[in-house]
Amino acid sequence: MVYIIENECIGCGICADVCPENAIKMDFRKAHIDTQRCSDCGICINTCLRNAIMRKSVTQDIVTLKKRMDDIRKRITLLSSNLDELTHKTWAENKP
Ligand code: SF4
Ligand code: SF4
Repeated sequence: MVYIIENECIGCGICADVCPENAIKMDFRKAHIDTQRCSDCGICINTCLRNAIMRKSVTQDIVTLKKRMDDIRKRITLLSSNLDELTHKTWAENKP
């Protein structure tokens, strides 16, 4: 089964034009797949220039990876902020 990665979709509508089952509708400038109509032919996957259409297993892996990267980014930001604070405090305590 194929899925749209909404963050990547720019709403060009090309996938909807090429779908032989007319299974892709555009809504608020995002593509949506009607899974009842989709025959899983994969034509849309190769058509999307943004690589916004993927098969389920790959999509799930990417979503999981993006969540982990977001977590890591937040932790780095927090650590960086703590380090700045500690550096400032140490400097203030030890200044001549
Ligand atoms: S071809 Fe890709 S970017 Fe264009 S509407 Fe379809 S999913 Fe979105
Ligand atoms: S996999 Fe084929 S049938 Fe399904 S949405 Fe894409 S082009 Fe349409």
